[in-house]
Amino acid sequence: MKVGIIGAGNVGSASAYALIMRGIARKIVLVDLNEKRARAEAEDILHATPFAYANKIKAGNYENLNGCDVVVITAGANQKPGETRLDLLEKNTKIFKSIIPEILKNAPDAILVVASNPVDVMTRVTMEISGLPKERVFGTGTVLDTARFRSLLGYHLGVSAKSVHAHVLGEHGDSEVLAWSPANAGTIQIEELAKDLGRPITEKIKAEIEDGVVNAAYSIIEGKGSTYYGIGGAIARICQAVSSNEYAVLTVSTIHGNVEGVNNVCLSLPCIIGKRGIHQILEPRLNKEEKEKLKSSAIVLKEAADQALSFL
Ligand code: NAD
Repeated sequence: MKVGIIGAGNVGSASAYALIMRGIARKIVLVDLNEKRARAEAEDILHATPFAYANKIKAGNYENLNGCDVVVITAGANQKPGETRLDLLEKNTKIFKSIIPEILKNAPDAILVVASNPVDVMTRVTMEISGLPKERVFGTGTVLDTARFRSLLGYHLGVSAKSVHAHVLGEHGDSEVLAWSPANAGTIQIEELAKDLGRPITEKIKAEIEDGVVNAAYSIIEGKGSTYYGIGGAIARICQAVSSNEYAVLTVSTIHGNVEGVNNVCLSLPCIIGKRGIHQILEPRLNKEEKEKLKSSAIVLKEAADQALSFL
């Protein structure tokens, strides 16, 4: 597949690296206002191809997006220490107004995957600007948060994170919802399994896992300025699902007619992803408390999206 990446900063280049090392993209084009950075990242990643797959990566302009199957948008300002994702809203909406028409002109058949924050709102903005069918525009949403949840649960239980079926729903951000009640491995609900394995999930451990998932970005940003490897892996995983028409279940962000009584809101629920993009949205089975949290998350995002749409 051919993948275009708009924004060759930390997230864009980590995504390109993951796509190359896993052999998912045959061709990658990096587009950035900072052409020198894009060229340097492409050159550096190209030098890893003899150790991975003989695929191509280059820096380019919007015209070079011609024939892209997927265009990933990572352009924009990133989260500064102490800044929430919603703080980035106005800055990134303005950037998107300039880049989306260019993408559409040059890669009219591509699926658009939005990673720039606040990702749920930027996904809504991209849908609005592009006018594309909703299955072809989605955000990375909580694919990364879900990976964080699975990895921490797997680590605690001593079970491969790949065998842990657990999802984070709602906002990619502070109001996100860890769906504990349906989480399981090997058919066993996760908290029961933890007891069976002699590693119970006490209130303290539960709170530590919640904190490790919800506040991961803040602690990583405090330590090294930004997060990029996790999201790079998540973007490669999404592209793989499209490229191999996998029908994989991933918690991407898309628009929903009704989430716990909140209408037309962009957030993450489990979705089936294949070559057409989102093939179907699944309705999770949640307990009362999780449903209430999902509703609160939907309210936060609905308000933020309304603000962003007013900048258009
Ligand atoms: P970065 O500053 O390293 O890179 C952003 C790049 O965008 C820069 O190279 C900049 O030159 C480029 N850019 C800015 N305006 C542009 C334009 N109009 N056209 C083309 N390129 C433009 O930032 P980063 O760390 O790579 O983060 C990028 C975005 O990804 C941020 O919004 C960040 O919050 C978000 N992010 C999302 C997730 C997620 O899970 N969705 C995770 C981490 C970061």
